[in-house]
Amino acid sequence: MEVTVIGTGYVGLVVGSCLAEGGNRVTCADIDADKIAQLNSGEISIYEPGLDRLVSHNLSSGRLRFTTDVGEGVRTADAIFIAVGTPPGEDGSANLSFVLEAARTIGDHIRPNTVVIMKSTVPVGTSELVRSEIALRTETPFYICSNPEFLKEGDAVGDFMYPDRVVCGVDADETRSRMEEIYEPFVRSGNPFIFMDISSAEMTKYAANSMLATRISFMNQIAELCEKTGADVEMVRRGIGSDKRIGPSFLYAGTGYGGSCFPKDIQALIQTADDFGVDLKVLRAVHESNDRQKTVLIRKIRSRFGDDLSGMRFSIWGLAFKPETDDMRAAPSLTVVKALLEAGATVCAHDPVAMSVAREFYLKDTIDYGEDEYETLTGSDGLVITTEWLQNRRPDWSVVSKRMAQRIIFDGRNIFDPMRMESLGFEYYSIGRHQVGSTVQQARSGADAGSSDSFKSDNG
Ligand code: NAD
Repeated sequence: MEVTVIGTGYVGLVVGSCLAEGGNRVTCADIDADKIAQLNSGEISIYEPGLDRLVSHNLSSGRLRFTTDVGEGVRTADAIFIAVGTPPGEDGSANLSFVLEAARTIGDHIRPNTVVIMKSTVPVGTSELVRSEIALRTETPFYICSNPEFLKEGDAVGDFMYPDRVVCGVDADETRSRMEEIYEPFVRSGNPFIFMDISSAEMTKYAANSMLATRISFMNQIAELCEKTGADVEMVRRGIGSDKRIGPSFLYAGTGYGGSCFPKDIQALIQTADDFGVDLKVLRAVHESNDRQKTVLIRKIRSRFGDDLSGMRFSIWGLAFKPETDDMRAAPSLTVVKALLEAGATVCAHDPVAMSVAREFYLKDTIDYGEDEYETLTGSDGLVITTEWLQNRRPDWSVVSKRMAQRIIFDGRNIFDPMRMESLGFEYYSIGRHQVGSTVQQARSGADAGSSDSFKSDNG
């Protein structure tokens, strides 16, 4: 089949290269000329495990090509995926301008009986809006499908190749059979196609992300209560995650969810509900709780050292919003770094893949960057862990101890065992668990270690 994917970002590039791998002839079209030039030279603009191999393999086999001529891509397609961004507008609602722009280009160039597939995450009713926008420009018959994407960054290729399910909102039998043909190579292990109406498919994506975000915020609130009561959130997680009705995923307490999807999708669903006169109280609480949770580490740092951090230096391990990606959109690390800098501290950070993105777009030269995680530690008054990269889970503690000015760790991802940290001589603060270590013993740099009260975590 001739497939065109409009938008060659995290989703479009994965979808396009996986569909090419599945035997289709795929055109990936994007208005970003630099991105397309880079892709045509065999370089990929994002870090996603396994994606570079897929792109180069399919590029050289001729099944995948990249272009800035979106109209030309549309003219040759049997199926067109719209995978452009839907960033939040000022009121939190999804900004549909990129989607509608893509729809207009489709309307100007579409050939008969093409299926237009909405991959971008869009509010209920948007696919019909796209249908109207296209129909304003052509009398050619075409079909519409809502096919939300559930891949997660860091494992996007695997998620697309072996989906838990493929949700398709369809408007005709022909749309259904075209979607079955497209996905046939990826559902051989029996994971289901779930066909439904278009509105339900659009809503399914928001409901899925909202449910996952709700679990995270719920556990973060339980973690706060654990700190007050002396319970351990890791024990609680294991205790409830083994219940089949609950399951183990998305129950990790931490520094709050980030990334390009959860924050914006939760806000967009709240906004849609407002438009329809429905008050999504649960989701409002999820959103508010997450905003507060993003400050949990800085509250712990302030509680330990006081509000004025001038003259202090902090190391950050992890900048990406989660491991195995270089995506820093709404990353909790940004909240932590900003607050540290505002309080007068200096920061040295390391991330295995996100440093060039951080340097170019987010933090620029406001902080120092370490060649590796150990280099960030020289003269450090506190190590702050914001992303749970695998490579940081078993550090050489003798090097860490020697390099740091004060052996104090603020772990926003609960990657170390508090008892072990205590035995290694660290003062250790994590989320929803006992803090360990002694202020007096560790304050050996001469910096103000705070009063004995300041040894308490932010939750007291
Ligand atoms: P992105 O910002 O990485 O990529 C979007 C791309 O679309 C950009 O390269 C941009 O240049 C291009 N574009 C914009 N307007 C265009 C036009 N008119 N014609 C051609 N190209 C155009 O975004 P993303 O992360 O890939 O997300 C895309 C959509 O998929 C969003 O709606 C998002 O919510 C959804 N989604 C994202 C993920 C994820 O993990 N990133 C997962 C599931 C769903």
